Amino acid sequence: MADALRVCALYPDLMNIYADRGNLLLLERRCAWRGIGFEVTAAGLGDPIDSDAHELFYLGGGQDRDQRLCAYDLVETKRDALHAAAGGGALVLGVCGGYQLLGHSYELGDEHIPGIGLVDLHTVRAEGGDRLIGNVAIEVDLDGDGAGRLLAGFENHGGRTSLGAGEQPLGRVVKGHGNDGRSGVEGVRRGSVIGTYLHGPLLPKNAWFADWLIARATGRETLDPLDDRLEDAAHASARAAAGVA
Ligand code: GLN
Repeated sequence: MADALRVCALYPDLMNIYADRGNLLLLERRCAWRGIGFEVTAAGLGDPIDSDAHELFYLGGGQDRDQRLCAYDLVETKRDALHAAAGGGALVLGVCGGYQLLGHSYELGDEHIPGIGLVDLHTVRAEGGDRLIGNVAIEVDLDGDGAGRLLAGFENHGGRTSLGAGEQPLGRVVKGHGNDGRSGVEGVRRGSVIGTYLHGPLLPKNAWFADWLIARATGRETLDPLDDRLEDAAHASARAAAGVA
């Protein structure tokens, strides 16, 4: 069991659209309230990363311009370490643009932006295609025990993501567009690698998911309960926004 949750925040300045960094604040507070240590290390352009030094690698969303910069840097300076980290069981969480970069590529018209190939998926942004925007709710079964739970959030992406044949989505779309607006699935989950289009305050809107990440990352079966009245209200409000009671 790890004493602390050590997070590597990848490109926190560039890949932080919709204040995805707020997710890290929530993790920090929920660890601190339980006496679990929390450390965050930022890794920007050109910075190497240590695959053994973190339990969670976090990559947020970004506009196409920033995403492009990060994509080449990820491939050149961080891909191997991220593969090693995931192979060793560390959590890798990619949100929106970060999710797209976990796959093989992001096609922007005739431009090919490389991903790190941690999961088998492709993203295409057709010229002139509408953006997929709105409140979204997905049903997920993170422990594979049939106990589906809801993640509620917001999506805003031009890219459409297709999963490879052997890949599993993170969840089933209850409301919203999901990966491509057609398939009825959202995100990707392969072991400790998770990608999703739900961003902005993903974790503040879904504190139960934050706790799942903390427990899994630090090797705890259970976590001390917290007074979650505000968090429950935030979750209920996000569900209601997506039209799910
Ligand atoms: N640039 C990507 C897209 O539009 C991701 C956007 C985001 O992270 N919000 O598809």
